Amino acid sequence: MGPRLLVATFNPGKLGELKSSLAMVPVELVSLEAVPGVTQAPEEGTTFEANARQKAVHYSRFTELPTIADDSGLLVDALGGRPGVYSARYLGERASDAERCRKILEELVSVVDARRTARFECCIALAQGGTVLEVFRGTLEGVIGQEARGDNGFGYDPIFQVPERGCTLAELSPEEKLRISHRGRALRMLQRAVFGA
Ligand code: IMP
Repeated sequence: MGPRLLVATFNPGKLGELKSSLAMVPVELVSLEAVPGVTQAPEEGTTFEANARQKAVHYSRFTELPTIADDSGLLVDALGGRPGVYSARYLGERASDAERCRKILEELVSVVDARRTARFECCIALAQGGTVLEVFRGTLEGVIGQEARGDNGFGYDPIFQVPERGCTLAELSPEEKLRISHRGRALRMLQRAVFGA
């Protein structure tokens, strides 16, 4: 195994995508579960970048390891960019992904197809010893469908249609999703910058 990298997430969906994206890189991914006494980072920013930086700095202080933290979410144009940085907390912490998807569909019920444009954004911050070293970004453009479709992925994947593929993100395999997704793009930039691969 190569160098170790602390991955600052408790979200198993994200961790899985990260592991498969970096599968070819000789790096050992360490999760927050393996860090004794770790406390949850505040997430008070109004942008993905501010939150990613805040999380990366916070968690990098618990170990000596280079640490990556990401913040991501869905921006729906017809909702003025909502849920945005509140994507994970839309409808409150206890709501399910399915409930959040249903809520977005309800909010867009009278919005015509041409105005249902949306995008996923992801920002990954790399920090060590409390200092941000670099930030990587990725975006995926799409359209909110009329109904949820597909069982793969997580979060808002079932309602997010990718026009070039003619299906939702939840209908793509995990590998296909990573090839085009906001997180896949940001991760490939990280991979090139950190591992030169
Ligand atoms: P956070 O980055 O952990 O604050 O949360 C991001 C939230 O945005 C997730 O909990 C999902 O609701 C949503 N999200 C981010 N990336 C994706 C994705 O690739 N598919 C579906 N939903 C996503």
